[in-house]
Amino acid sequence: MHDLQMDELKATDENAAMVLLVDDQAMIGEAVRRGLANEENIDFHFCADPHQAIAQAIEIKPTVILQDLVMPGLDGLTLVREYRNNPITRDIPIIVLSTKEDPLIKSAAFAAGANDYLVKLPDNIELVARIRYHSRSYMTLLQRDEAYRALRVSQQQLLDTNLVLQRLMNSDGLTGLSNRRHFDEYLELEWRRATREQSELSLLMIDVDFFKAYNDSFGHLEGDEALRQVAKAIRASCARPSDLPARYGGEEFALVLPSTTPGGARLLAEKLRQTVAAMNIPHIAPAPGSHLTVSIGVATVTPGVGSNSRQLIQEADKGLYQAKHNGRNRVSVGQ
Ligand code: GH3
Ligand code: MG
Ligand code: MG
Repeated sequence: MHDLQMDELKATDENAAMVLLVDDQAMIGEAVRRGLANEENIDFHFCADPHQAIAQAIEIKPTVILQDLVMPGLDGLTLVREYRNNPITRDIPIIVLSTKEDPLIKSAAFAAGANDYLVKLPDNIELVARIRYHSRSYMTLLQRDEAYRALRVSQQQLLDTNLVLQRLMNSDGLTGLSNRRHFDEYLELEWRRATREQSELSLLMIDVDFFKAYNDSFGHLEGDEALRQVAKAIRASCARPSDLPARYGGEEFALVLPSTTPGGARLLAEKLRQTVAAMNIPHIAPAPGSHLTVSIGVATVTPGVGSNSRQLIQEADKGLYQAKHNGRNRVSVGQ
């Protein structure tokens, strides 16, 4: 249902009815008009041309349609089916007006989609009571539809908000990479998958060289900026959607590489090391005129049953320790 339509409905009284009578006889139109004239809150529209009925119904938005069955050129039952097939008029209650009390016509009318059946001309009290009853149930239906629509909108907003929250909860504020918590979760999931599939899981531990000295000489803000630059290079080195770059803590980063061979992990690490060095970020350590570099420890494990993902971190840490020990700005495989 359209917002505009609903706004109009809200603006009107819940007990108000809008009646559209479709009948080729002007006399019937006059009689019904007179019968409803003194009723409060009932608006009346008369349509004498059945070919205009659908267009009129769409325009005036009746809450009840009174539909004559026998009209020249267009059968009333066909018209009832047409209201039902049109998404705009589909749910509007239809009271069929027949010339006689005939079970066959009656059942055909209900089968076509009519909601009620009256013999012309009905007693005014009965006509008003039925108009009010059907009109109210239609308004209730519209209100229920609107409430569901609003509910769906707010559910979607909640889902969107949750996605944003999830992303915030998983990312590191300084670099935008995954944070430690998300890294732990992801590594655990991938460790279990690798155990099930008996595939190789690789991990890079990346640590900035002489970073304390960097902070000491350029200040913390410059230090933060350097960390962002390194993070950018790490993110750019990830080729697959399953690769997960994370800030492990301080100036230490980690890169989870599912289904990656020792050779593949080592190559990626070496490229990353070269990329960071090529950024030419000036540094005073190990000697004046140096550039900022990283040391990287690499490990690859095909997990055995009952093993723990800590094993992979320990091996990558060993590699990192060796890289530092052997002079920094290098890649070492831990075992
Ligand atoms: P190494 O080459 O052996 O890794 O030496 P290092 O100086 O990099 O290592 P160390 O662990 O002694 O120092 C790490 C420094 O990183 C200390 C700390 O001030 C700095 N650091 C950690 N987190 C941040 C951060 O978020 N921002 C900034 N600017 N500095 C950080
Ligand atoms: Mg360091
Ligand atoms: Mg460190």
